[in-house]
Amino acid sequence: MDDITIDVLIIGAGPSGSVAAAHLFNQGLSIKVVEKSKFPRFVIGESLIPRCMDHFDEVGLLDAIKQADFEVKTGARFIKGDAVCEFDFKEKFTKGWDWTWQLPRADFDKLLTDELERKGVDIAFENEVVDVVFDSDGTSKTTVKNKDGEQYSIHAKFIIDSSGYGRVLPRLLDLDKPSSLGKHASLFTHVKDTNRPEGKEGTLITFDIINTESWLWVIPFSNGNTSIGFVGPIDFIESFKGTPSERFNEMLKLSDHYAERFKDSPLLFAPKEIKNYSKAVKQLYGKGYALTGNSAEFLDPVFSSGVTFATESALLASKLIVKELNNEQVDWEVDYSDYIKSGVSVFSTYVKEWYTGNLQTLFFHQPENKANKEQICAVLAGYVWDKSNPFVSKHDRLVKSLAYLIAMEEERDAQSK
Ligand code: FAD
Repeated sequence: MDDITIDVLIIGAGPSGSVAAAHLFNQGLSIKVVEKSKFPRFVIGESLIPRCMDHFDEVGLLDAIKQADFEVKTGARFIKGDAVCEFDFKEKFTKGWDWTWQLPRADFDKLLTDELERKGVDIAFENEVVDVVFDSDGTSKTTVKNKDGEQYSIHAKFIIDSSGYGRVLPRLLDLDKPSSLGKHASLFTHVKDTNRPEGKEGTLITFDIINTESWLWVIPFSNGNTSIGFVGPIDFIESFKGTPSERFNEMLKLSDHYAERFKDSPLLFAPKEIKNYSKAVKQLYGKGYALTGNSAEFLDPVFSSGVTFATESALLASKLIVKELNNEQVDWEVDYSDYIKSGVSVFSTYVKEWYTGNLQTLFFHQPENKANKEQICAVLAGYVWDKSNPFVSKHDRLVKSLAYLIAMEEERDAQSK
């Protein structure tokens, strides 16, 4: 096959690669997306948060998604035994989108790439990036293997690595570093929701806490199926023995709220397990490349931030590449790395404080503090760059301090009884 020369190569056609491709294509750059799989393909990450609507809107993909009739998500419910904490995205501190979707990713990612192809974006499916060599000026030569095993080269001025867990450049350039988050695992599947209740209870996305560190998600889709996944420390998830389906069914019995609804629901595929899913890198960019989405960093499923982080980083990296190729000055450290890391660090605090139990203390404390709840709701909606929100600007202290005060108050009340 002949070599190809373009402005920007995008590795991976998940949400991150699709948003990057849409923006760069809209700006008139010559681009190519290289995607290892054939779409539709299964990928986990089905609950979106409102911030990503800004990204899909800005790159012109939102109207196509609206046609698909995915289940609308207006908030999220957390439950622990009888205690319930429900967030409504309408009641959030930061202005912005107050709804989004919960959807099967195979359909969603296919829809995005269909729309890109319709607009004229060149996507090579079943083509895998196997090697990348950079010149000192940042231009690169990428070796790609097509489905017939033939190899060809792509010469590009810039690469966006949106390869998710493929982690193409982190692997080739030795950029991986251990995540600061705990070692967790997840076992998940889709079920045919044959016993779905009428109304909101049937479609509400819920995080059900089994114990402080272990929980399950329930994400109903508009196609009548529901995604259920268990998350917890690896030894907890691995303490369930048997086939994946047997382990899944045993775990389901631990949910007081959902065991009955799903006990006879047929599993649509054997549950899949992912261990050690948290990922981090030493650097988010280098001469001639930027890492976006899961290829750069993944924290935890608990606040559904993965896709939004993927699209936020993709759109920002694409904008900076356009500037750089127009010979404008770009400070990648400040304009990309610092910005992305500040959002990641907010979410990272919330993930850590979820697993210490401090955030759960805040969520379930009665009576609710309306102002605090609205500020936390803005974080859960993905507006983690709004420094006027104290739960963003003081994230590293506020959750811990408030949980401590609540614990002191409860101790004082217990003693006075
Ligand atoms: P992906 O969607 O993974 O896309 C990467 C693409 O790159 C793939 O299509 C892959 O085939 C391709 N690729 C890989 N290697 C190569 C190669 N060598 N050459 C060419 N192409 C390649 N996020 C949420 O927002 N909400 C959730 O509810 C949620 N739940 C999660 C639950 C679990 C258990 C886990 C582990 C993650 C969850 N996530 C969730 C995170 C979510 O899955 C990711 O953040 C999201 O898919 C990242 O998108 P992406 O575009 O970066 O990568």
